[in-house]
Amino acid sequence: MSEKTLPAHARVVIVGGGIIGCSVAYHLTKLGCRDVVLLERAQLTAGTTWHAAGLLTSLRDTEAQTKLAKYSQDLYRSLEAETGQATGLVGCGSIQLAKTADKAEEMRRGIHMAACFGVEAHEISPVEVSRMWPLADVTDLTAAFYFPHDARVNPADVTQALAKGARQRGAQIFENTRVTGILTQGGRAVGARTEQGEVRAELVVNCAGMWARAVGRMAGVNVPLQAAEHYYLISEPVPEVHPLLPILRDPGNCAYIREEAGKIMLGLFEPVARPWGTNGIPEDFRFGEIPPDWERMYPYIEQAMRRVPRLLSTGIKLLFCGPESFTPDHNYLMGEAPNLANFFVAAGFNSLGILSGGGAGFVMAHWILDGRAPMDVWSVNLRRMHPWQDNNRYLHDRIVETLGIGYQDHWPFRQAATARGVKKGVLHDRLAAAGACFGESAGWERPNWYARPGQRPEYTYGWGRQNWFSNNAEEHAAVRGQVGIFEQSSFAKLMVQGRDALYVLNRIATANLDVPPGRCVYTQFLNTAGGIEADLTITRLAPERFLVVTAAFTQTHVDAWIRNHIPEGAHCTLCDLTDAYAMLNIQGPASRALLQAVSADDFSTQGFPFATCREVHVGYQTALALRLSYVGELGWELYIPTSFAQPVYDALIDAGKAHGMRHCGYHTLNSLRMEKAYRDWPHDIGPADTPLEAGLAFTCDWRKAGGFIGREALLAQRETELPRRRLVQFLLDDPEPLVYHNEPIYRDGERVGFVTSAMYGHHLGAAVALGYVSNAEGCSDEYVTSGRYDIELAAQRASARASLVPLYDPKNLRVLA
Ligand SMILES: Cc1cc2nc3c(=O)[nH]c(=O)nc-3n(C[C@H](O)[C@H](O)[C@H](O)COP(=O)(O)OP(=O)(O)OC[C@H]3O[C@@H](n4cnc5c(N)ncnc54)[C@H](O)[C@@H]3O)c2cc1C
Repeated sequence: MSEKTLPAHARVVIVGGGIIGCSVAYHLTKLGCRDVVLLERAQLTAGTTWHAAGLLTSLRDTEAQTKLAKYSQDLYRSLEAETGQATGLVGCGSIQLAKTADKAEEMRRGIHMAACFGVEAHEISPVEVSRMWPLADVTDLTAAFYFPHDARVNPADVTQALAKGARQRGAQIFENTRVTGILTQGGRAVGARTEQGEVRAELVVNCAGMWARAVGRMAGVNVPLQAAEHYYLISEPVPEVHPLLPILRDPGNCAYIREEAGKIMLGLFEPVARPWGTNGIPEDFRFGEIPPDWERMYPYIEQAMRRVPRLLSTGIKLLFCGPESFTPDHNYLMGEAPNLANFFVAAGFNSLGILSGGGAGFVMAHWILDGRAPMDVWSVNLRRMHPWQDNNRYLHDRIVETLGIGYQDHWPFRQAATARGVKKGVLHDRLAAAGACFGESAGWERPNWYARPGQRPEYTYGWGRQNWFSNNAEEHAAVRGQVGIFEQSSFAKLMVQGRDALYVLNRIATANLDVPPGRCVYTQFLNTAGGIEADLTITRLAPERFLVVTAAFTQTHVDAWIRNHIPEGAHCTLCDLTDAYAMLNIQGPASRALLQAVSADDFSTQGFPFATCREVHVGYQTALALRLSYVGELGWELYIPTSFAQPVYDALIDAGKAHGMRHCGYHTLNSLRMEKAYRDWPHDIGPADTPLEAGLAFTCDWRKAGGFIGREALLAQRETELPRRRLVQFLLDDPEPLVYHNEPIYRDGERVGFVTSAMYGHHLGAAVALGYVSNAEGCSDEYVTSGRYDIELAAQRASARASLVPLYDPKNLRVLA
């Protein structure tokens, strides 16, 4: 029981006093929100935080996570001076080791990406590693990379410092105060119930670590995470080690090594992990440990010790096992719940909660108080998750793989190996028989490419041309020359209906949806700062009925965005029809002839103009056909009631033989759209990019009655300045190199941005990329097109041509054919 009395009301209630809850409290008070109450079931740090290893390494997979890590390092450096509470920070730096040439390539690409976000790193030789870490065996190394500003901290002390800073500015922290329920009213969180009474609040933040799933359930909010065993060991004292030895990150051995009070700490990220607490995390688990399983871990330990062979002959003082929570995709869960207003989550830190805790608190505090995140954090947004991911078996099986991912090879196009086959469209078996190599998106098994007869539909990963390169080339050529069939049933299909449906959608869409029924409209949804929250097509099927189609992984987000913008009392409903319809996308110059062969309906230029829709008959079946293209060709998307899908598919395949039709996968969709410079959300456009910067201002109807959310911010940007950054398409001059994403872009030798997405443009004959070019004085057309550009690929630069108009079919003649 806490001795203080709980207040009846607070502006913000935070559940959980680990590093994340304390960081959120710290940052809220820093932004001036002092009426903050933090409720901790046990004592501060009693969950996972107390036993963390405290590594602060800054290089992460994504821009957002790298920025959070960098911010955390900077913050922790100043916390002691600010609060008087020591943090145990040691500026020891870190070294990442690469055993293989592939890992070295990945790391080289990584440090160039990190440089774009202010992280300093240098490639060093194995000899230099020996000099810095004399006990390390470097004989098997290909390369190494030194991060001079990386550090380590004492996680409990950092947390206490954050808590102290928060308290100094007015936050109240209640230990031994367990939250037993979340108070809700009218679709909003309005407080928390504890064993000591209720605290009403305007905003509730779930920072309950591995209990966050249970706390989410109290509010009906899914927080799909699962705890797993996580290990490190501490040796007996080793005379040669000292605190300033850099942290060694050794992905080839799934391990990290650092000094700990004259001993060596060796931590493990084994590739096959063991979930823990699968029937729920015990309520009374505090400052807890899990009995270590020596037998399971010994092979990993022995392998990892070879990096510092002295360990093999030094005693082990402690083999520690503690639980940490992991998520299905190894990214955190942050942001406002899709289905409960004013209920925020910050949990699922995948063993990165210390190094990202400062940044996470900063982002959350802004998100909570301003209603949106201060930067693009889609990769960690809770709304990328789907309700089905709260499935116990799925979480158990996927987390076995997640724990080790950070230390494995991050190949381009790498697919999850576990918990597959969650969702299969009705055509799945037919596509498999046609050679589909499936990838996963939002649980759907989707064809990424098709194997030739005799070829195994499996990836061989690498940084060069992977084994499906020529398959992709052939599919690409078929769409440019004849016709391709893409199975895209995973796309989310949301029906928005009612007397106020037009009003609701027109307020959130940049384009004017007051079009005649039968018209398809390409549009974005913006936040109040003009950032792009969604990129989609909306078809007006009837005066009061709209079909909203969006990418599978955005389903929860777009659904929530629309629902949350339906004013109280409005006559407007949203119904998710995703599973009711299959979708086949027929694209290419021969698509008209092909459809004409299976349907008596009129598919002519005049009879079925671009961006229109109508019902068509294919055999005995009826489908909704939308004339649209994301690949830059003549084509139609067919939305087919699921039970009709197989016969329609069979008819198309049969007729397709005479028209050179090929099955095409998502990699081909991507390589085609890159040539046409069609943007991809969230890679090329996202919540921190405006349509003006992204070259999408043409979708904005500035004059429509009632305007649209984000319009004022865009007008201000348009009137006061040239955009300081613009999305530009690049084509490499050399046909050989490949570009993936995050590669730095140089203009006249100066770094001006980085690649947001890229694919090989088989028609244009070289890699094609999209990326933002920035200039503090503004990016005029002249500025963009007059530069000489290079893209940095690992250790070399490749010259590229820049274009503000699509390099493929700039006049749109093929789409409008
Ligand atoms: C062995 C190990 C080593 C690690 N090393 C590192 C590292 O080197 N670097 C790094 O960045 N990360 C590391 N981590 C991960 C890091 O410890 C976590 O990501 C981080 O501590 C998570 O912080 P949190 O605040 O989300 O969770 P927690 O610290 O678990 O805090 C959640 C709090 O919520 C409280 N709570 C739960 N339910 C309720 C309730 N109903 N009411 C009130 N309170 C409640 C709990 O008591 C707990 O104190 C490591 C983890 C492990 C296990």
